[in-house]
Amino acid sequence: MECKDARELLAAHVDGELRGREALEVARHLETCTDCAAAQSALMAMRRAVRSDATRYRAPAALAARVQAALPSQPRQQPNAVVRSWQRLALVSGFASALAIAFAIGVLVTKPMPSDLVADDIVATHVRSLVSGRPVDVASSDRHTVKPWFAGKLDYSPPVHDLAEQGFPLAGGRVDYIEHRPVAALVYRRHQHTINLYVMPAPPGAPNSGPTAESRQGFQILRWVRDGMAYFAISDTEPAELAQFRAALVAMD
Ligand SMILES: [Zn+2]
Repeated sequence: MECKDARELLAAHVDGELRGREALEVARHLETCTDCAAAQSALMAMRRAVRSDATRYRAPAALAARVQAALPSQPRQQPNAVVRSWQRLALVSGFASALAIAFAIGVLVTKPMPSDLVADDIVATHVRSLVSGRPVDVASSDRHTVKPWFAGKLDYSPPVHDLAEQGFPLAGGRVDYIEHRPVAALVYRRHQHTINLYVMPAPPGAPNSGPTAESRQGFQILRWVRDGMAYFAISDTEPAELAQFRAALVAMD
């Protein structure tokens, strides 16, 4: 892929809108082209800045009341009535003006869940590990080799288990950056598939939770919190296999 083509797809890539071959080709180009990689970093930095620091305006109560009064009368107010009012307004008075009003009131400008940004990073680093040709920094199926390898590279010690007997052999480990902090990535194999398991400290006091499954850019992600650690498993395996992987892992404790 040429720089010109990569640049055209860069925004879609950063937004996680590319699929399959196109996604891989852009990721591959970014691995080898420092110029385009720098453009990507700049784009991501801007996106983060807009999401976290963009100025938002709250409409004066009087305006909100006037808009409400102008709307067709409703049988009864429901919790989501304000949002639905905007949808109705969009039909009544044209989408553009509704959009302008909604924007002024801040309906459309919402902060994403922090976990969305984490999931973005998870997908990006997973794809990068697949196309880099170097999915592990320490290649070993021995947990007694992999676990100590993280010492000195991270300020925590991730639990490491080999799951070869359960059909998920450990291939090794790697340090990746999620949300600008170094985290442990454990690499497992499932037939011809790769599973990346990211392990990082959960927020203090976070109770055990999950698993929560989602699909992103064609990959399955399973996330859960257990004993103070947050886990993110990602792969292109079937969701059922990823669930099986988690069950095997949890059973090791
Ligand atoms: Zn380039």
